[in-house]
Amino acid sequence: MLRDEKEKKLKIIAERISICKDCNLFLERKKTVPGEGNPDASIVFFGEGPGFNEDEEGRPFVGAAGSLLEEKIKFLGLKRSDVFITNVIKCRPPGNRNPEPEEINSCKKFFLAQISIIKPKIVVTLGKFSTEVMIGQEFGKISQIHGQIFYQEKCNLIVFPTFHPAAALRNGDFRDLFDRDFEKLKIFIEKEGFLKS
Ligand code: URA
Repeated sequence: MLRDEKEKKLKIIAERISICKDCNLFLERKKTVPGEGNPDASIVFFGEGPGFNEDEEGRPFVGAAGSLLEEKIKFLGLKRSDVFITNVIKCRPPGNRNPEPEEINSCKKFFLAQISIIKPKIVVTLGKFSTEVMIGQEFGKISQIHGQIFYQEKCNLIVFPTFHPAAALRNGDFRDLFDRDFEKLKIFIEKEGFLKS
């Protein structure tokens, strides 16, 4: 699919998200946060859900966790505009609580539609919720599987789980592991030639 066509299709998904009332999160959202970035991205970063700043701006990862994520994208030798960034849920949960299973289940269709258009080579899952969406619960905790390479057959892509940047900002041990995961990721994507698109 050509880039223009992908862009149009992603815009249609964003419009569907903007009017979505499939779960109760629509009641308190200010803006929906569909995700943004390169429609031809080889790498998709998959977060949890919008926080206060994202809900205000309608863009993913624009707060403190976003600054760390951007720093890591630069470390990989890329710009924010080279990758695609999105979340498991596209509306802010009240008080930034964790997403409920029904909310995740009802929002999953949008992420699956996004990756079926973008066709990335690798999805970097940031934290427990996005990792569970991509590889299921049976793999255990994020601290047990972070930094490993999983092949997701259904979507024909690689999943690379790591910690959520907000968790890395809160906890020094997680931060060290998060930094090391990005070192591994850099080596892997360079070896595989997964840079840009
Ligand atoms: N945390 C997330 O998981 N996603 C965002 O967009 C911002 C913070």
